[in-house]
Formats: sequence, structure tokens, C-alpha cells
Amino acid sequence: MSVHMDQLSWVDYERRVGEGVVVFLPCGATEQHGPHLPLGTDALLASAISAEVAMRVGGLVAPALSYGYKSQPKCGGGQHFCGTTSLDGATLSALVRDAVREFHRHGVRRLVLVLGHYENQWFVAEGIQLALRDLGPDAGLEVMRLEHWDFCREQTLTDVFPDGFPGFALEHAAVIETSLMLHFHPQLVALEKIPDDASADFPPYDMYPTRTEWVPPSGVLSSAKGSSAEKGQRLADDIVEGIAAAVCKEFAL
Ligand code: ZN
Ligand code: MN
Repeated sequence: MSVHMDQLSWVDYERRVGEGVVVFLPCGATEQHGPHLPLGTDALLASAISAEVAMRVGGLVAPALSYGYKSQPKCGGGQHFCGTTSLDGATLSALVRDAVREFHRHGVRRLVLVLGHYENQWFVAEGIQLALRDLGPDAGLEVMRLEHWDFCREQTLTDVFPDGFPGFALEHAAVIETSLMLHFHPQLVALEKIPDDASADFPPYDMYPTRTEWVPPSGVLSSAKGSSAEKGQRLADDIVEGIAAAVCKEFAL
């Protein structure tokens, strides 16, 4: 039987919920990822990772929230790219709040929000906290929130970045996301279109309106040149194993 909620009938879904299933809700974005990766990269990766973890722990994956909070120049390239389609923070929080309340109404008591878009984190946290406040202290619902890249092991990052790890913020459309896409969705990666831009060099402050000249014109914040499916496999192993272990620990599976 599928791990994807939207491929089940409500009757089969209700039965799984009754058995105490863990539900994974991927939270992505529709955002430029350079000329070589698709606009849906953040949601595609969060969904693929959620599906692998769900297979290991007997969970279900809900349809992804495929729009995210506004792309920021230093971690997503910014809002000036065609195709980047973003929500106001309050809209994203409201979306998460409504979704969490609905899963609770179904009877779900263990929910994991898997974030694939850096900018989402505090607005998703806000939505979870508002939903739990709405539901009250006896709701019995526990929610885990995570960013998938935080499960990459130190040794893996050392091996994947022999010239030094540039940090997760600059990793937008770079080696980690490109390698993970080569692992999960190779047919959606155009390796020959990886740009030669130098890494972005941002000052330690932000400016509004965005100084678009700070952002590489390709939208890639550090080089994706060293990407490979093998690196993607290693990163995916760390991430899937790490999330599965955290879910088993916190939900006593
Ligand atoms: Zn991304
Ligand atoms: Mn993103």
C-alpha cells in the first residue's frame, strides 16, 4: 500500500490513523534553483525524504505545502527571480495552523513537519504553536519540526566538500541540493547547465529593497560543480536514517 496519503481512500487513511500512524507533512517552496534544477526542488526533496522515512517507520506522507515564505537573497537568491512564488509569513503560518488542526481532527497524534526551504522555519513553528494553542493542553498531539539538511553527518560533509563546507545558507541550488536531486529525481537535473558563477559574498547585514547585484545572476549561491549522485546517496542515507531514528525516539516507536 502507498505511503502517500493522497493515493489512499479516506477509508484506508482512517484505518491507518486509527492504528496510530505517524504523518509526515513536507513543507517546500516554489523558488528558482538556478538553471539546472526545477522550481519545485525544495518540496520535491522534502517529499522524497519523507516518503523514504515513512517506508521505514510505517508512516504516511501528506501532500506537500508547495509554496513557502519569501525567498531571501542570502539563502534562496531573493524575490526578484521569475518563477519564485512566495507567501507572506502570516499566510504560511495560517496554512500550517489549519493543516495541523485538520490532522488532529482526523485523529493523528504524531505529526512530523519536514522542511525543505530554509526561510520557512519560524513561520512554520508559529503555525504549529498557534494550532497547539487552539487545540488546548489535552489535545494529545505531538509535532516534530525539522530541516532535513541538519541530519547530514560531520564526516559526510567533510567528504562531500573536500575544499571546505560553505555553510547551509549558501548551499542554495549548490552541491547538497543538486546531489540530492541527482539521487531522488535525476531526470529533473540538467548537469550541463550548472553555471560557473563564483560563490556569493554577502556583507553581514541585509538591505531592503534587495540589492539584487549582490546575488549571482544565475541564482546559484555557491558552486554546484562537485555534485554527484554518489554524494546524493550518502547525504540521503544520513538524512533518512537520522530522521527515522529521531522519529522512533521521540514517538517511542
Ligand atoms: Zn532549495
Ligand atoms: Mn529554498
